[in-house]
Amino acid sequence: MKFCSYILSLTLLSLGCSSVPSPSVASQAAASMSLTDVSDAYIQLTLEAGTHEPEYVDAYYGPAALQSAATANPRSLADLIAQARTLTAAIDAALPGIQSLPDRRRARALRGMLVAADTRLQMLQGRKFAFNAEAEGQFATVPELMPLAHYDVILAGLEKLIPGNGPLATRVDSFNENYTVPKDRMKPVFDAAIAECKRRTEAHINLPAGETFDMEFVTGKPWSGYNYYKGNYKSLIQINTDLPIRISRAVDLGCHEGYPGHHVLNLLVEERLARKNGWKEYEVNPLYSPMSVLSEGSANYGIDLAFPAQERLAFERDVLYPLAGLDPQTAQAYWKMQQMTEALSGARLTIAKMYLDGEVTRPQALALTQKYLLLSPARAEQSIGFTDHYRSYVINYGWGKDLVRNYIERGNPAEAERWRRMEKILSEPTLPSDLLP
Ligand SMILES: [Zn+2]
Repeated sequence: MKFCSYILSLTLLSLGCSSVPSPSVASQAAASMSLTDVSDAYIQLTLEAGTHEPEYVDAYYGPAALQSAATANPRSLADLIAQARTLTAAIDAALPGIQSLPDRRRARALRGMLVAADTRLQMLQGRKFAFNAEAEGQFATVPELMPLAHYDVILAGLEKLIPGNGPLATRVDSFNENYTVPKDRMKPVFDAAIAECKRRTEAHINLPAGETFDMEFVTGKPWSGYNYYKGNYKSLIQINTDLPIRISRAVDLGCHEGYPGHHVLNLLVEERLARKNGWKEYEVNPLYSPMSVLSEGSANYGIDLAFPAQERLAFERDVLYPLAGLDPQTAQAYWKMQQMTEALSGARLTIAKMYLDGEVTRPQALALTQKYLLLSPARAEQSIGFTDHYRSYVINYGWGKDLVRNYIERGNPAEAERWRRMEKILSEPTLPSDLLP
């Protein structure tokens, strides 16, 4: 029944309001039908792949019966890879005949998801890819990375700006440690930050009625924050408190996991792609797919979008510092430290590539992370631990943010246009290559 009504809705979309289909419109409808077949098969494939890797499926809010069927009788990795390739070939065959632009974009996005599945499933079989090939396969993009020598120049500048004894990383880390939020103040600080991120987002994007989230503090995770999208416009946001949380994390996390980050992306995708268009493939979200570039990139860029220029400093100083019991008069110094060290963030990807490609050992990667990202040994361990676990997924943060920023700020548009572009990439099938000039 679902299958029939789904084909009908897509056919009507392709036909527009006309009553008698012309031959070209009829072939469009046929192409749409085959996309529907691919979509249904892709959902099944993804849910079955999820039985081979617990984190494979990041979110699923389609019919529970499909999940149960996948869990009851999953195919082997080899069979799933063969299926992914068959479906990719079906899209390649259908693409030349798909005239409607939305359907073309849908098809291209589906193709990217299938190539990602093929790559990830091979990795689950034990195949090792070089860093760039792994990134290209899973995320349809290869990051442009600067050599560490580029960051040496920045470090030399910071040595002069941040005087003192001992290694620069130790100086910066101990300075930053003064801005830790006491555990008993975390909830009010994060509540206030998320509310402000939401207020700023709602001023530009219409969010569906009833959207909401729960927030939990957790420990023992390889990440610092996570958004579990539950469907029906609801998220569970978890914040990892393994390491002391600094005041800047509140706005970072409120925007990244919440508004206009993951929560908003997921609910716009559900509202406009899964529900309005009936593109059911969006009801399942694999962790490793080109969508992750958009997801992490827009979540990180969303912080700068929601708090342009010094608005973030003003909000943190006037609202969050008092809630955290920190001295607002010290806010500017911490903000300035972050501005000064921001230019080093790309070193994380350079180190990740060197490490995953076997050019440096794990202890060397830890030492490089401390040196170039100005981190304590414990924080460097958390950073490399993330790379161990998620491998080339790390590109989605820094490189994804660069791609999204370059797209949204192209031509230096006014604020309203920046938000319009943000909403567009959050609610349409978008590949990393769509963000290029
Ligand atoms: Zn994220």
